[in-house]
Amino acid sequence: MTGAATVRPATSGTATASAVTLRGVSKSYGDTLAVSDLDLTVQRGEIVALIGPSGCGKSTLLRLVAGLERPDAGSVTVGDRVVAGPEWVPPERRRIGLVFQEHALFPHLTVADNIRFGLDGRSRSEQDARVREVLELVHLAHVVDRYPHELSGGEQQRVALARALAPRPEVVLLDEPFSSLDESLRARVRADTVEALHATGTTAILVTHDQTEALSIGDHVGVMRAGVVEQWGRPVEVFERPVSRFVASFMGDADFLPTSVTDSGLACELGLVTIRKDVADAEVVVRPHEVSLRLPGPGVTGAAAVVDRVEYQGPFILHTVRLASGRTIRSWQPHSVRYPVGTEVLASIAPGIVPSLLSGETALTHSPTQPDPTATPLPPDVGSVH
Ligand code: ADP
Repeated sequence: MTGAATVRPATSGTATASAVTLRGVSKSYGDTLAVSDLDLTVQRGEIVALIGPSGCGKSTLLRLVAGLERPDAGSVTVGDRVVAGPEWVPPERRRIGLVFQEHALFPHLTVADNIRFGLDGRSRSEQDARVREVLELVHLAHVVDRYPHELSGGEQQRVALARALAPRPEVVLLDEPFSSLDESLRARVRADTVEALHATGTTAILVTHDQTEALSIGDHVGVMRAGVVEQWGRPVEVFERPVSRFVASFMGDADFLPTSVTDSGLACELGLVTIRKDVADAEVVVRPHEVSLRLPGPGVTGAAAVVDRVEYQGPFILHTVRLASGRTIRSWQPHSVRYPVGTEVLASIAPGIVPSLLSGETALTHSPTQPDPTATPLPPDVGSVH
């Protein structure tokens, strides 16, 4: 992979601070390298969202942590125990809860019995207390005696989460858990899930292909591509400071404009981007919410552009405008602003925005003379991006 970032192991922090650690993990299926020399550290109590295009190795990574696959190389540690690598701990002894897209509840068992299933070896009264506790956690105490077919899809998914949490696992792995739910239900179940995970302090790794979901749920987000984590960071970092063109494009709508060095610094067609002058052939990444459009008038500056297309997108109106160079860029505008096709406007980068720069496929780090106001520094014990 050229110029892209890899996730390095955390170099500090105690063994007990991390819930899941992968070191140099690889897994192939025949000629397909599904996971490639991957390092990952998930801290206790955090929710990690793994996102990436279909086939990039997300599910394989979860299956390796769960023990449903054996790595060809490397090691997996869950809590303080090495569970794969020199040792092998079978899935049922890893203290891991699983929640998949298909709820996988036993249809012939009631909700209570489904949850009791993972609580073998405890007294009946202990089981009943735990069943009540986890159902209350997902706001479903009233369905305890129902069968799965008597529940909605969202309720089934919350029961699946309750079942996964019941044995107090070290980690819960969720593979596209909300994708079978319709949009309105998804938001609710998602919020309940995050609340339940945080309330119990449970570490979770969630696989999704939905950018908004990854950004809103994850304490950290891992953007995967071709078997590696290309960027690891806080949601704000992967969205606002993508390390590569791939991440910039994958995590949301993005347009790319070439820059040139001027007397004042690096400029693109929309204006000055940074005062640094030491970069040639860089491109600037602009997202639709970062582009402002105004009608020409006294004191209004910006690049001359003509509205090319107007698209109603519900909360926003997406304007595609053509710049003098012939390049197009996109801008989200509120309902109060709707410029008809053909309107002459002035386009600029919205105030306060410090756009990212790419050199080829790779992002340039920001100039120390222009501190990034949005950057959130990583705590020292969290894997850093290089
Ligand atoms: P994702 O979850 O990101 O869609 P997967 O982890 O399912 O990706 O798959 C990664 C790659 O490994 C893909 O190329 C997929 O076709 C391949 N793969 C996954 N599971 C198997 C399997 N059991 N046998 C053969 N190839 C597989």
